[in-house]
Amino acid sequence: MVYPIVKFGNPVLEREADSVTEFDTPELHKFLEDMFESMYAAKGVGLAAPQIGIGRKIAVIDVSNGERPEDKIVLINPAIVKVEGRQQGEEGCLSIPGFREQVRRGKRATVKAQDATGREIEVTGEDLLARALQHETDHLYGRLYITHISALKRDLMKRKIKKLQRAGDWG
Ligand SMILES: [Zn+2]
Repeated sequence: MVYPIVKFGNPVLEREADSVTEFDTPELHKFLEDMFESMYAAKGVGLAAPQIGIGRKIAVIDVSNGERPEDKIVLINPAIVKVEGRQQGEEGCLSIPGFREQVRRGKRATVKAQDATGREIEVTGEDLLARALQHETDHLYGRLYITHISALKRDLMKRKIKKLQRAGDWG
């Protein structure tokens, strides 16, 4: 099932999600399948549960865009444990469509999380994967990438979004 993507302005995107406490249930496995399906349908490389209106600490990532099954990553209750180096690059978000900004992130990032069965996992990534790990983990704490850009750029973006909202073009 493909869920519609929740857009900036919905409070679910800006509050910390609840931790997952039940693992390996049919509901969780089905939900993860639906998250991947929703992410591929939206042509994203990462998706966090709040982006489909569910305030749970669950995110999926696939930087290969469905090309390599081994690139599929499930993060439940993730936390960043290590960030090294710096990378500068353009970043966007499915919940803020039509906008992209330069965002500085760590070049390498390590995330500790749990998988669908509740097992503790650690995922380390570089470059795009590091960016996705940081972006998606941020989502689960209610932080959008626009919190990492200048206040000036952020205010400009918010004004443009307000205009789109008023025109009924935001949803
Ligand atoms: Zn995002």
